[in-house]
Amino acid sequence: MKIAPLKTPGNSAYERGKEFGNRGQCNPTYFTVGALVERLQQLRDEEGKSAKEIVEQYAFVTAGGCGPCRMGMYATEYRKALRDSGFAGFRVMLLSRSGEATALSSGMKLPRAAFVNGFTGIIVGDILNVLRQRLSTYEAHEGDAERAVRACRDLIENALAHRRSVLWAAWKCRAILRAVPVNRLQVRPRILIQGEFWAKTTEGQGNYDLYRFLKKEGAEPVIETISDWLVHQIWRAGWSLRRREDLARHDAKAGGLKGKSVWKTRLAYAFAEGLLRGIFNLYARVIGLKDYKITDNKALADLAGKHMDLHLDGGEDHMEIGHHIQAVTERKANMILSVKPFTCLSSNGVSDGIQPILAEIYPRSIFVSVETNADAPANFYSRIQMQLFKAKKAAAQEVEEALARTGQTMEEVQAELAARPFRHAATHRSPHVYACDAANLVLEVGRRRGRKLAAVPVASAAVEAPAGAALA
Ligand code: SF4
Repeated sequence: MKIAPLKTPGNSAYERGKEFGNRGQCNPTYFTVGALVERLQQLRDEEGKSAKEIVEQYAFVTAGGCGPCRMGMYATEYRKALRDSGFAGFRVMLLSRSGEATALSSGMKLPRAAFVNGFTGIIVGDILNVLRQRLSTYEAHEGDAERAVRACRDLIENALAHRRSVLWAAWKCRAILRAVPVNRLQVRPRILIQGEFWAKTTEGQGNYDLYRFLKKEGAEPVIETISDWLVHQIWRAGWSLRRREDLARHDAKAGGLKGKSVWKTRLAYAFAEGLLRGIFNLYARVIGLKDYKITDNKALADLAGKHMDLHLDGGEDHMEIGHHIQAVTERKANMILSVKPFTCLSSNGVSDGIQPILAEIYPRSIFVSVETNADAPANFYSRIQMQLFKAKKAAAQEVEEALARTGQTMEEVQAELAARPFRHAATHRSPHVYACDAANLVLEVGRRRGRKLAAVPVASAAVEAPAGAALA
């Protein structure tokens, strides 16, 4: 069995998706359906395969959903577009928490090795992606980070394809990534990108090249990983199980609990989550990503649950709200950017209704919500730039505060780093105190020089607005 990814969809895929899709769909459907149709047309028109051969020899595996949002209709959309573009009967299989085994086994046999390789590939890909964003933000010479990550990707791909040790390949990546020259004293605000899953993770015209835009504007994009999303899916399945277990005897619908052992199912979820976290942490440590923690969904639900009903399933659920609160209270980001396709039900319709309340409770929050609809980049960019201005100021203030607390000047910090650079500077991350990485580096250099830390100014320490000040 051979597995290949579809290339990142661009505007031509979007047009193709609109041509063969139904009206009124979310734009990730158009982009992804269009990308699939484009690929199949390429196989037919450029590689000379007949439609019959393509239908028999190829299959498409994608993520599905079962929430109230339109993601539940993606498979139907794929099938319609494939039929109308001349590939009726082409197999589309969904991976979803409600029945991945059924979906896969009904359409194709997935050998265990292919499953393990795919799973490992996702995890290592996530780790490389996080490091890629960090290194390319602070790289001293443009393109170095991209080249290093590409070399790592080749090593991992080779190991997977020839059944060699992926762990050993990951170890080799460590040296390649550490060697990228970086300047981490650049004062760049950290921007947490959240929102609808596809819009926040794609790296092309589907979100107007958001990551590249932010870096060009002098910010550091902070991304969420597919592993985070997978752990969230397991958490959601476990949460739903707890809500339904009292009714187990009566739950006779397809996939229901009647006749099943609830505790065994619980154990299976706990095992799956532990395994995923364990493998992620192992590879992350080996590659050199030491400070990234996969989301604690219980903590997130506790935070978000104060402001919304956790039964609201679909899309990103309550994650946007939980992450927003965490980013502000734990100083994980200087700004929160929520990106979603035009009229996204879960992100626009639910989260965006709650976000203004958070801005009232947490005055330090800098938040912007932007929509993508494939044809209005100027509006999209200018809305981000307006908030980015504030985020840059916030990051600069953090650096000023760090300098003041350690009694240093920026010139002294630069001189210290020039004289005694950190080993493995590129993947090194200073202990987290502030959102802005340069501020944390200033504190770390200060400690190394034996400076005592002055207390945090009162105004900077306050996270929430005084009780009763804002919410009427
Ligand atoms: S999450 Fe939003 S954009 Fe994605 S399918 Fe649901 S409604 Fe559409």
